[in-house]
Amino acid sequence: MSDCIFCKIVAGDIPADIVHEDDKVLVFKDINPRTQVHLLTIPKQHIESLAEIDDSHDQLMAHMIKLQQTLAKKQGLESGFRTIINTGKGGGQEVFHLHIHLLGGNNLPAFTKE
Ligand code: 5GP
Ligand code: ZN
Repeated sequence: MSDCIFCKIVAGDIPADIVHEDDKVLVFKDINPRTQVHLLTIPKQHIESLAEIDDSHDQLMAHMIKLQQTLAKKQGLESGFRTIINTGKGGGQEVFHLHIHLLGGNNLPAFTKE
């Protein structure tokens, strides 16, 4: 996807503060952090959103989810962390390349009714 900002980060065309890389994923700091720790985990392959995944992505998705606890530990989030995947315009997604937000470092409030 030539116009995808996260694909450009994977390709090295746009700089990012990378904290983890392996054959499947890239993890980097959110450019506009909402909490003390705010990381984004993305697949290296372009997948638009959680609504686009199928059985062929099982290994990748398990890897992305399991990685969160490792990242959280490395970031010192012993007391807990929050993960968010915004999906589609109605879900508040702004960058249409699948990503998991890892948030922590503040005592995050419980969800309240909007
Ligand atoms: P979404 O709203 O799609 O779930 O989240 C997109 C996130 O990507 C936002 O939190 C935004 O701050 C972050 N973001 C957008 N563009 C860039 C960028 O060029 N670099 C980095 N590191 N983060 C970005
Ligand atoms: Zn992309």
